[in-house]
Amino acid sequence: MTSILRGVPLLLVAAPLAATAQDAKPKPEDTERWSPAVPVVTPGRSETASPPSDAIVLFDGKSLDQWVNVKDGAAAGWTVADGIVTVAKEAGNIQTRRSFGSYQLHLEYRIPANVTGMGQARGNSGLFLASTGPGDEGYELQIMDSYRNDTYVNGQAGSIYKQFAPLANPVRKPGEWQSIDVVWDKPTFDATGSVKSPAHVTAFINGVLIQNHVALLGETLYIGKPSYKAYDRAPIKLQAHGDPSPPISYRNIWVRDLN
Ligand code: MG
Repeated sequence: MTSILRGVPLLLVAAPLAATAQDAKPKPEDTERWSPAVPVVTPGRSETASPPSDAIVLFDGKSLDQWVNVKDGAAAGWTVADGIVTVAKEAGNIQTRRSFGSYQLHLEYRIPANVTGMGQARGNSGLFLASTGPGDEGYELQIMDSYRNDTYVNGQAGSIYKQFAPLANPVRKPGEWQSIDVVWDKPTFDATGSVKSPAHVTAFINGVLIQNHVALLGETLYIGKPSYKAYDRAPIKLQAHGDPSPPISYRNIWVRDLN
């Protein structure tokens, strides 16, 4: 009884606020969530794992042959040196030559030790689990520096951007290599393009579970509410984010097709 009575004033306050929000133009801040805070977890030792025998190797340290530039389908244009690839922001996003349905993916990334900036403008990149358009379209698992760098929790490293905060923050400090492992269970659609089953994501950073079979609400949107667009197979995309901080690097990227 007490709890019901306590809820009444809240409802009375919420109604006029909602009416005001509806009249306003949607803003990026509308879909930011700042609490509850994500618990920080210190991961175990860093180990790099070589690909299993049935993996499709997407980057072996030598070439970006498996990738193309999203803008024009030409050479990816990111910088390969010393067994790693570094984002070339002026080149833009890159995506795999192949298209995938459901899959298991592994990659390793490193935020540069000299990273600058704060919030979203600090080491921002991203793994688009299915790239469904020429820009930032698709489903983004956020990659950025979340080591003692606060931002909205549904936008920090390991979030499904603007949808799900990670369950934990197990990131290492800039300059150290880190791993991401993902199971992407693709959405399915009926003949009219309506969702039959939503996409599901399970993911780990540095071996710590950060997303546990979450059902996605649709494609990632910076502003507004996510929704689905029917697709069957799509490339996997890495983001060249426009922030001015020094670019991040990747290595050892492989995928296992689950279809
Ligand atoms: Mg990003």
